[in-house]
Amino acid sequence: MDYGEMLEKGMQEVPENTDDSGRFEVPDLEVESRSGSTRVGNFMDVAEAIGRDPEHLADFLSDDIGTATSLQGSELEISGEFRRENIRGRIDNYLERFVYCDECGSPDTVLTEEKEVRIVRCQACGARNVLD
Ligand SMILES: [Zn+2]
Repeated sequence: MDYGEMLEKGMQEVPENTDDSGRFEVPDLEVESRSGSTRVGNFMDVAEAIGRDPEHLADFLSDDIGTATSLQGSELEISGEFRRENIRGRIDNYLERFVYCDECGSPDTVLTEEKEVRIVRCQACGARNVLD
């Protein structure tokens, strides 16, 4: 099964919003790794495309990879050498957790905080996905 088929299969399991406007494109990552560190050149574009705070995304990547990250202007610097596919996989983890709605799969969500509980609120179906 190739990646396209996997995506299609994933879409079929979503009860609503089955057209492909339900998912969005993350820009191709510009990743360069050398001398023990990795740079994501278009990190700000990625954060903007997914509509999330770049610092929140950077912190998540730091935890998920288990290394230090730091924002350098529009770039992200990551300690250690990592391949683009690896970083992309981490960003997909972030999307699953903090962007896509658990109920309908829509990426049209906002991350908010209510009484110190973080919530992904869906603009498409109104679901409130509480994060633990
Ligand atoms: Zn929803």
